[in-house]
Amino acid sequence: MGFQIAIDGPAGAGKSTIAKIVAERLGFTYMDTGAMYRAMGLLFDAQEKFPETEEEIQEACNKADVSIKYIDGSQHVFLCGEDVTSKIRTEKAGNTASKVSTYGPVRKKLVEMQQALSASENVVMDGRDIGTVVLPHADLKIFMEADVRVRAERRYKQLLEKGVNSDIEVIIKDLKDRDYQDKNRAISPLKQADDAVLIDTSDMNIEEVVEAIMELYRKVIEK
Ligand code: C5P
Repeated sequence: MGFQIAIDGPAGAGKSTIAKIVAERLGFTYMDTGAMYRAMGLLFDAQEKFPETEEEIQEACNKADVSIKYIDGSQHVFLCGEDVTSKIRTEKAGNTASKVSTYGPVRKKLVEMQQALSASENVVMDGRDIGTVVLPHADLKIFMEADVRVRAERRYKQLLEKGVNSDIEVIIKDLKDRDYQDKNRAISPLKQADDAVLIDTSDMNIEEVVEAIMELYRKVIEK
């Protein structure tokens, strides 16, 4: 088994930005598990009727062919052979992902996939249940938090950079709804693992957060 770094936390805390940089510096594989839930959301949305009953959910999961590939070092997500990496990056896809991630068969399928993919690799994996469920024996676990307004401002800026003008109050409401759903679902809710280190990134810049994690990593390998 390789060295495993698990990063969990609410939407917009900066997990993927940080995880990507840490993985790059360490030469590890970065795995964005949220992207897999987003791809599943896309598939559920594409059904004639959004699967809601146990039977419909199971059927959609059976035909869901989700896979990931690394192209020039970055993760691409494929849904039934189609590269959906860009398609899944909308706010709507995030909200649908949050909805389908409450379904047991969806979680079971993706968790098994994540565990199989990371079994023999050095990984930095980010998500909501990595330290608690996917990699319970990870060598280093981080729980990344940030004030909801700070998270919303970061998202607002990201959207603006893409030329999208948005309403910060709407983003705040969206983040709060998603946090609520992720923290209160019955299966694998978002929570800090007992042995995870909490990093509140509200008043930290990217380099400071990366350095904090690198320092924790150095401490683990020196042990
Ligand atoms: O991280 P990202 O915003 O892309 O995740 C989208 C949604 O997927 C989250 O709001 C959460 O509901 C779900 N998710 C999850 N478990 C993970 C990763 C994401 O439930 N490991």
